[in-house]
Amino acid sequence: MARYTDAVCRLCRREGQKLFLKGDRCYTEKCAVDRRQYAPGQHGQGRAKTSEYGTQLREKQKAKRYYGVLESQFRNYFDMAIKMKGKTGENLLSLLERRLDNTVYRLGFAMSRAEARQLVLHGHFTVDGRKVNIPSFIVKPGMVIALRDQSRSLDKFKSVIEANSFRQPPKWLDYNASLLAAKVLENPTREEIDLPVQEQLIVELYSK
Ligand code: SF4
Repeated sequence: MARYTDAVCRLCRREGQKLFLKGDRCYTEKCAVDRRQYAPGQHGQGRAKTSEYGTQLREKQKAKRYYGVLESQFRNYFDMAIKMKGKTGENLLSLLERRLDNTVYRLGFAMSRAEARQLVLHGHFTVDGRKVNIPSFIVKPGMVIALRDQSRSLDKFKSVIEANSFRQPPKWLDYNASLLAAKVLENPTREEIDLPVQEQLIVELYSK
């Protein structure tokens, strides 16, 4: 499967804001956005063009990069969002937010979405009691996501559990720390998704 392999901090610098792609480092003074507040590359410090298309494109790229999905997959989410009831932009973000890798990240099992993706691929999580190793799996209300019994003794998770370093899960997830499992209560609302993006501009871009 194709994936982005270049330096991820360049992506944040290109968007001009933190996308939190590197875990711990994003919260330190080593963050590249804090140190170099201009776009990467030879012309990164030149005058930025701000056409309508350019603005819409940047919003789309930001969302894609935040969730770590590539263009074709992002477009598929958009096509799914159009067919759903409600606002297309909000539907799009809801689908991205409910990806299994993002859910695992939101529950605090990983420091970044990239790490969460790896953990899911390695089969550390179950959904409704069955192992799911597909990062793009979309969780739905009523489903229960849990760390597999076999994975609980692994150093990676032991340290997470012992340090009690779980993030405060969002309201749409009911996390049970003793079971290391969470139930999806509802679809996330726009207010619960902290992505700094204007989703309407993405809708306009794809509607041209
Ligand atoms: Fe982005 Fe994190 Fe790199 Fe900062 S450290 S530029 S937030 S990936």
